Amino acid sequence: MGRHVSAVCKLCRREGMKLFLKGSRCQTKSCSFERRDTPPGQHKWKRGKISEYGVRLREKQKLKRYYGVYQTQFMNTYREAERQKGNTGENLLVLLERRLDNVVRRANLAHSRAQARQLVTHGHIAINGRKLDIPSYLVKVGDVITVVGKEVSQKLISAIAESAPEDAPSWLEVSKSPASARVVELPNRSEVTLEIREQLIVEFCSR
Ligand code: SF4
Repeated sequence: MGRHVSAVCKLCRREGMKLFLKGSRCQTKSCSFERRDTPPGQHKWKRGKISEYGVRLREKQKLKRYYGVYQTQFMNTYREAERQKGNTGENLLVLLERRLDNVVRRANLAHSRAQARQLVTHGHIAINGRKLDIPSYLVKVGDVITVVGKEVSQKLISAIAESAPEDAPSWLEVSKSPASARVVELPNRSEVTLEIREQLIVEFCSR
């Protein structure tokens, strides 16, 4: 009998790469992408030749899933990236990277972006001392992200920060106890860890 694969892990299978959607499990041997890169069953997964349109669509879907944003929000971010000076693809990645839910994840205050989003929407995160429950808020240089709310939540988040398997990126200055982070500079393209060809996404979205 095939092993159970969660809906989230199926997204990694579909995109053919690890999207790190399940927190600490993604770093272990339990990662279902590591265990087998085809779906359960006797027959190998066959994918026909993908059209140029399909390749571009896939790249866009990959980026949306990685950051956990819906189509409307994604397109709003894309339009903002177009309005900014410079390379639209790079602007898009940097805007997504600056989202508060992503920053909470990258500062190791949550195991996954989904968990980070929940912490934000449930009111556990403050920016510069004021509670903020908007996951799409774009952090700015100097913003300080802290944990607010019940002591038990604070302890839980500190424990996550203490046990984080990876370091926070250099654009964030992170403290583990009490868990907090400061944005020392804005991220740049090279700090986006997802393997992505943003130019294909620009070609798809600008049709
Ligand atoms: Fe599942 Fe994470 Fe592995 Fe993707 S990377 S298959 S979400 S455990």
